[in-house]
Parts: sequence; structure tokens; C-alpha cells
Amino acid sequence: MKTAVQLVGSMYPCQNVPMVVFGKRCPTPCLYCGLYKYQFPAEKIIAEGKEKVIEEMSKHKSTYFAPVTDCFLPENSDLTHNLLEETWKLNQLWTPLVNTKQIIPGKTKNLIIANKHRLVLQISVPSVDEEIISILEPGSAPIPERLEMIKRLTLARVPVIVVVMPWFDLGNAEDLAEKISSTGVLRSIISNGILTKETKNRMLNSGNQQLIQVAESVCFSKEATEKGLVIPREQRIESLTKLINAFKNFGVKVRVCISDNHDLGDSGLPLCGEFKHHNFKRKEER
Ligand code: SF4
Repeated sequence: MKTAVQLVGSMYPCQNVPMVVFGKRCPTPCLYCGLYKYQFPAEKIIAEGKEKVIEEMSKHKSTYFAPVTDCFLPENSDLTHNLLEETWKLNQLWTPLVNTKQIIPGKTKNLIIANKHRLVLQISVPSVDEEIISILEPGSAPIPERLEMIKRLTLARVPVIVVVMPWFDLGNAEDLAEKISSTGVLRSIISNGILTKETKNRMLNSGNQQLIQVAESVCFSKEATEKGLVIPREQRIESLTKLINAFKNFGVKVRVCISDNHDLGDSGLPLCGEFKHHNFKRKEER
């Protein structure tokens, strides 16, 4: 990729909005990530270069930041700030969906707080076990810092959604739910995620017995997804139920993302197949 930033067409049917792709990718990728090197084919590219990306984004109701890298990596955070600020100037109704596992710099946190009614902010916390996170997400912010950042944002009335993906059910559902609820978060979206052959091998070579067991359990299930390897259905339902119940005990609303859980339709679990957030809804009503 020759430019610092591109706008590309959606790859998620549940959130059919364009996506921001940064030239600078995660230098220390997450163990489970199969996307950090992904290059989008020419036919998916809508705009290239900062100015054109801003102009094009402003014509849409939303934009997803960012599918194949973290938009708040130190290498990307200034550009992300600029893209948000300039696009809001062009279109007051534009409502970006921003997802991160980094610490958002202070000036962008203030920008987000000032625009909290036209933004959907997702912060990823797949576990509160520091040892597991240091292996799974070696390039991302430490969990206590992520939780502290979420707390500051919710205190400023930013409706943060916590994303628990991949949920590997490593015996800490109550602890995770308690710590997340203590930040003031009210909503969470969860999924066990998928592994590719490459990410499965990385987990098998991680040296951590719990992660090795998860990697050994995954299988191909075309009923669930054809994109990769998943935990078997009954095991997925059991582990998701455990987390849903833990969240319920702490008053956090939770939905299971069906993007790679196509086989959970009759499971009785609370499923999410279309991204609906009241900030999007308000936009549609105007
Ligand atoms: S931060 Fe996101 S894009 Fe980067 S390696 Fe981790 S999962 Fe992949």
C-alpha cells in the first residue's frame, strides 16, 4: 500500500459502511489476528490519501476505524485524530464506529467526548488476565490502562461498548464481568472468534497451556463460518452462556456477534446480526 490511508468497501454485512485502512500496520500483532497484513484488492478501494478519504467519508453515514490495524497505534493516532475532526466538520451527522485496544491520546479523547453523540466507540477487552493478554495481544495497551481509560470515558458520558473477542473462556468470566462493569460500561459484544491455520499454529507455539488447549480444540465448521476454525458448537454455547450470565449478574447488556457463529440461530443466546446503535438510529430519524 503506497498511501498512508485508504477508504475501502465493507467486509462485514452487519455494519455495511466503508472502512479506513492505514498503511502502517500493527508492528507487534495479536496472536489470533489473521488480518494485520491483509491488502485490499483494487476493486474494493473507494479513495486513497487523506484529503480524498475525508471527502469520501463525509458522504456516508458512518465509517469503520479500522479493520486491519489499530487506529490508535502511536503511528496512526495523529492521522486518526485528523480524519475524525475534519470529517465531522464536513458532515455533522457522520457517526464513525471506532474500535481500539490502544490508549487514546488526550487530545483525541477530548474530541471524542465533545462528539460523543455522533460516535460509536468500542474498546476491546478479551480478558483481564495480564499473563494471557501479554501473550495474546503483545502490542496492545495493558488491561489496567484500558480499564482506566474506559472509566474516564464513561464518566464523561461516552457510551463505550466493550468488545470481548475472542472469548476463550479461560476461567475468568466473573472477574472479567466485574472489572468491566466497574468502569461504568453498560453494553458488551462478545464472540469466540475464529483462527486461521497460521494463528492456530501461533497459539500452539505460545508456550501457554491454556492457549494450546484452545488451539487444539478448534475445528472447521462450515455451519458456523467458512472463514476459519472455530471452537465446537456445544463448547461455544457453554462458554458464551457463562460469560452472558456473568455480565447479567453485573448489569451489563450483552449480545453475541453472529459474524462467525452462523450456527447459533436456535441456541437461545442473545444474538447480534446487525449493528444497531442508538447513535446510528438517531441519525436515521433525522
Ligand atoms: S490490533 Fe487488531 S489488527 Fe492489530 S494485530 Fe491486533 S487484532 Fe490485528
